Amino acid sequence: MDIDTHTTRSPVDDEALLDRLFRPMGVDGVYARTHLYENVVDALQRLISRHRPDDAEVFRFPPVMSLRQVEKAGYLNSFPQLLGCVCCLHGTEADISAAVNKAKHGADWTCETTTADLVLSPAACYPVYPIAAQNGPVSARGLIFDVSADCFRHEPSRDVDRLQSFRMREFVRIGAPAQIATFREQWMRKAEAIARDLRLPYAFDRASDPFFGRVGQLMAANQIEQALKFELLIPVRAGGAPTACMSFNYHREHFGKTWGILDDSGVHAHSGCVAFGIDRLALALFATHGLHLEEWPRRVVDILQLG
Ligand code: ATP
Ligand code: ZN
Ligand code: MG
Repeated sequence: MDIDTHTTRSPVDDEALLDRLFRPMGVDGVYARTHLYENVVDALQRLISRHRPDDAEVFRFPPVMSLRQVEKAGYLNSFPQLLGCVCCLHGTEADISAAVNKAKHGADWTCETTTADLVLSPAACYPVYPIAAQNGPVSARGLIFDVSADCFRHEPSRDVDRLQSFRMREFVRIGAPAQIATFREQWMRKAEAIARDLRLPYAFDRASDPFFGRVGQLMAANQIEQALKFELLIPVRAGGAPTACMSFNYHREHFGKTWGILDDSGVHAHSGCVAFGIDRLALALFATHGLHLEEWPRRVVDILQLG
């Protein structure tokens, strides 16, 4: 894949990104974020809000969601290796004290926990489909949402661009297949314009999700063949392969069927989403333009309204 670089600066190295933008929290892929970094994160969120379609309904989801909903949506089958489950100590005072005492003796107390019926949200759009289903049949105009969540995926890594806890922002479209296709094409063009405005070198590629196991390999091949997922890739790690910073997904009628989202004539609605990896976009900006905002191209600072 060729990336047309509009910048002459060599990318900032990964150690410098980690040192300057994050502080360690004792676990790979989980970091405290500095003020410098969060300013850029906030600016990116505001920039994306300025591109929000007028009729979008806005939801900000908490970092947890219903375990049952995630199971029903098929996430447990497709990506069990990435899912984080919230477990707590239940039972009588004696049960709970016994577990705490285990910890005092250096033993593992967590094996005494049981599910709180919650998971850590693996993607920002999962909770929106059951909400959309509650509103009855989808009109001919379809639906559009602006959602975001702190997401968790169990993929510990020392790579600065592969976090276990990260922010995801999404625009989600629900409607007829042609509406989803148009939405996805428009957003791929808008994403390209945003990357250009931000002077970020980029390329598009077809992609697949990391489906679990051998059956998953077939699902991934199918996803690529049917062009259900595209990614916008930007160099983040110096010397590494470019990183997926946004994705453009077509789910066909998967969520419509799962949640009984129907159109006026009783046909299952289709859906698609455009996902912005907010942390990866912020890292891409620092990797490309350097660690000092005062050295960033004036135009980039203006577009992000950071000046
Ligand atoms: P990758 O191909 O790198 O594993 P993905 O294809 O699994 O990413 P999506 O499921 O499309 O990613 O998630 C939407 C967006 O969330 C991605 O485009 C990316 O910007 C961001 N994202 C996904 N996983 C991570 C992660 N571990 N750390 C930071 N951002 C992430
Ligand atoms: Zn989504
Ligand atoms: Mg991917």
